[in-house]
Amino acid sequence: MILGGGFGGMYAALEFERALARGADVDVTLVNRDNFFLFTPMLHEVAASDLDITNIVSPIRKLLRRVTFFHGDIETVDLVKKRVGLSHGHEQHCHALPYDHLVLALGSTTNFFDIPGWQTARSR
Ligand SMILES: Cc1cc2nc3c(=O)[nH]c(=O)nc-3n(C[C@H](O)[C@H](O)[C@H](O)COP(=O)(O)OP(=O)(O)OC[C@H]3O[C@@H](n4cnc5c(N)ncnc54)[C@H](O)[C@@H]3O)c2cc1C
Repeated sequence: MILGGGFGGMYAALEFERALARGADVDVTLVNRDNFFLFTPMLHEVAASDLDITNIVSPIRKLLRRVTFFHGDIETVDLVKKRVGLSHGHEQHCHALPYDHLVLALGSTTNFFDIPGWQTARSR
């Protein structure tokens, strides 16, 4: 199971796509909260109106033909029971998916180093 459909998760999934095409006997599932892959290196061109957002987003289901895609939010990861808790849909249905092996590719959050005012200034 791959958690996260950004650069790390998608490229791991694409490697599995190739292995599955060669007949690898594995079930691979990728989970992401968005149903698209965002090509961040060209995001500034969207901000500058040089490109439309549709030029830099790709539907994950179109990129992955053999890897299963689950569109949802990862709520919990139980490393002992090897289970991931997910929610999805408007009503936030909950699911617990078991796994044998886990790829964690959930990105990062900005560290503001507790400097007063920085976080607020950035979100304005
Ligand atoms: C504007 C911009 C421009 C950039 N340009 C470059 C560049 O030119 N070259 C370069 O090398 N790097 C660039 N980067 C950095 C690059 O985008 C990151 O290094 C890269 O995306 C990190 O990959 P990742 O897989 O670790 O995380 P991400 O790509 O952030 O992927 C994490 C994924 O996990 C998902 N996720 C997180 N939490 C949950 C959850 N609880 N439930 C479900 N899904 C979840 C997120 O929605 C996301 O899809 C740029 C970044 C930005 C923002």
